[in-house]
Amino acid sequence: MSDYADQTTLKQDEETRRRFLDALRKSQWLSKPDMDAYQRRLLERVVRHAHAETDYYRQALSVLFTDHGSIDWRRWQDVPVLNRETVQAKSERLFARSVPQPVGQPTEIRTSGSTGRPIRILWDRLAAMACHMLDARFYDWHGIETGRSLAIVKSFPKGAHAFPKGSRSSGWHASSREAAVFQLNTLTATVEQQIEWLDDCRPDYLTSYPSNLLEIARTIGSRQGRALGLKACFSFGETVSDDMRSIVENVLGAPLLDRYGSTEVGQISAQCHASSRHHVSMENVYLEILDEDGRSAQPGEPGRVVVTGFYQYSMPFIRYDVGDYAILSAQQCSCGRNLDQIERIVGRARSLFRFNDGSSKFPFIKLREILEVLPHRQLQIAQTDLDRVEVRYVPETPDQLVDEAALTRLLRQNLHPSLTAVPIACEAIDRSASGKFFDYLCELDQP
Ligand SMILES: [Zn+2]
Repeated sequence: MSDYADQTTLKQDEETRRRFLDALRKSQWLSKPDMDAYQRRLLERVVRHAHAETDYYRQALSVLFTDHGSIDWRRWQDVPVLNRETVQAKSERLFARSVPQPVGQPTEIRTSGSTGRPIRILWDRLAAMACHMLDARFYDWHGIETGRSLAIVKSFPKGAHAFPKGSRSSGWHASSREAAVFQLNTLTATVEQQIEWLDDCRPDYLTSYPSNLLEIARTIGSRQGRALGLKACFSFGETVSDDMRSIVENVLGAPLLDRYGSTEVGQISAQCHASSRHHVSMENVYLEILDEDGRSAQPGEPGRVVVTGFYQYSMPFIRYDVGDYAILSAQQCSCGRNLDQIERIVGRARSLFRFNDGSSKFPFIKLREILEVLPHRQLQIAQTDLDRVEVRYVPETPDQLVDEAALTRLLRQNLHPSLTAVPIACEAIDRSASGKFFDYLCELDQP
């Protein structure tokens, strides 16, 4: 789960933006068959382009094309899924020799991703515009006023926006260039320092990783939390659990609004105002949730997130495995929109625990239950062997005693009966190279 906030500075043509947003405001109400037809048109355009203009897709998409050059969509699931390793190893083979005129010159970005290994990506202006306008629609849904101030607290490369000052500039969204934006690098500031900085700049809105918002909420206490005067928190980049949401919302007195996307294709889904579920950004991506056999997973079942971006022409991403697992919902949303819904983003592939009986599971334990057994300021549960889990924690108080048996019992009840818990007190728990935090991490060799 990556963010694409760094592209917000790209300048866009006002008139085109307005028309794009108008179109999104209409398309969100399309019936299911009309949305399918809409997506099919966008999909065909990018598929034909990628097949004609790139070396990789010339081969990968050949199964779709008949002798007469028409597309046989029944073969879609025979198109190989593209994974991150292939992109890393062969990114040039995904670059298009030429692009249709309105796409314009791409920007090259390099991302470390969650694994820390860099990847080269070409981002088209058109794709950036699609994401900005989807953001604008998301702000519409939640009554967010883009003329107000925003603080962005996340990791930035090369020590940018360092504590104690961070930085102040203007224009956090294409629609309002004057609004103040404050930025602070989490790699340079402890949670206490972040709170001090927030208290100083008093933003209306706050963007950060869910785990960081949780740490802020757990450190600040409700009185001071509400005194910050936040109107909403925007989260991205990690899984949001129900108990995390309720702690953040109660302490900070502001709703937690989540978006999900990737650096490769931009926005994939965004939380609805009528529930905590996400609506798929169906105008930007064709989303598939696939089971272990590569077939469409049923609603309610976790599966791999595989996306095709509609607006990436310089470097198309077709059937790209983002590296996350999510669950689709079959329910109709009470907001009345027919956009598909994601029930839950369950986590990164590397969060999936595997056990000695061959089973596997996305681990989850309620925060309240863990706190009863192990009071902590920070926690990471890492599987280091099929039957062994390290519980790394930053103690709440010095000389804190740990009931290892109770901890093992908790893990056995919630995760798997074969597990033994090994508590390890730490001074701090490092975030990944991308700045994100994994509360559950499988450190076994990947199968
Ligand atoms: Zn809805």
